[in-house]
Amino acid sequence: MKVLVAGGAGYIGSHCVRQLQLAGHEPIVVDNLSYGHRGSVPEEIPFYEANISDRERMVEILRREDVESVMHFAAFCYVGESVEKPIMYYNNNLVATMGLLEAMLEAGVRKFIFSSTCATYGIPESLPMTEDFPQKPINPYGNTKLAVELALRDLANAGSIGFAAFRYFNAAGAAEDGSIGEDHSPETHLIPLAIEAANGQRPALQIFGEDYETPDGTCLRDYVHVDDLSRAHILALEKLNEPGTALFYNLGTGEPFSVKQVIDTVEKVLGKPVPWESAPRRPGDPPALYADPSMAKRELNWEIQYPTLEPIVQTAWNWHRNNPEGYRG
Ligand code: UDP
Repeated sequence: MKVLVAGGAGYIGSHCVRQLQLAGHEPIVVDNLSYGHRGSVPEEIPFYEANISDRERMVEILRREDVESVMHFAAFCYVGESVEKPIMYYNNNLVATMGLLEAMLEAGVRKFIFSSTCATYGIPESLPMTEDFPQKPINPYGNTKLAVELALRDLANAGSIGFAAFRYFNAAGAAEDGSIGEDHSPETHLIPLAIEAANGQRPALQIFGEDYETPDGTCLRDYVHVDDLSRAHILALEKLNEPGTALFYNLGTGEPFSVKQVIDTVEKVLGKPVPWESAPRRPGDPPALYADPSMAKRELNWEIQYPTLEPIVQTAWNWHRNNPEGYRG
């Protein structure tokens, strides 16, 4: 199937492009390279440097490439930045997405796969989290993602599209063959920061809060391998034949790991200590977030190939060891 991947030069998008290729699909990448890396997209893949909000251009690309479905990863994803610059987040994550959807409708493309987030739930009342939990985001980033989910529901109700929205937990790791990996600027995610600290590329890692009501006092998160995430998107493609289809899935392994467990695992994989220091809690961090992934497993036959932390960290380290400067190197 010809799949347009918006944001296909970003972290999750580029891994999805690779999995699409491996599954025999034909990805076409659109990315404005504001955060993405041209080097993360193989030369043989059609690549358009364009803004998804440029409706005329998107209609032209969708028609020219004879696209059947769209996967949309092109969004800003920094919670703190979204608090400081909400307009930027609403424009890029919500308004631009509406432009993309309008272009799809004009070009007659009806299948849509959307990167949503567990941040749409806010602070959960219990754990693990299922898809029917109330959605009460606690920051603008989560609000913009929820707003798109609501719009998608309305579009499906109108019979205009069929869609799947995936609520990601903590995407982590890198392609098994070491070809692509995680390169954010600035980097804010725990695993790459811990690897860089252990590797002497950063000062001590700050642990944001050691006084949470969790077994070791640090936050619990659900780290899911980026290739496992990507494969779920491909499985969902087959379910979107009927306009009106509206699917929501949590994507996590269901296994919580604490910040300190992540540090221990990085130390084990690298064989080096992770220097760290205690820091205050980071505003907006819920103490624990982990998924109940049974719906995706049941309905999509999604199989998690990386159910534990160590192989996830191993793939992240393989990439980092060979690309210490990321795509700049
Ligand atoms: N974290 C930390 N120090 C850091 C970065 C993250 O202690 O330098 C913690 C953060 O508070 C959270 C967990 O690590 O509990 C995962 O954070 P990350 O930013 O990777 O993902 P998030 O859960 O915010 O999406």
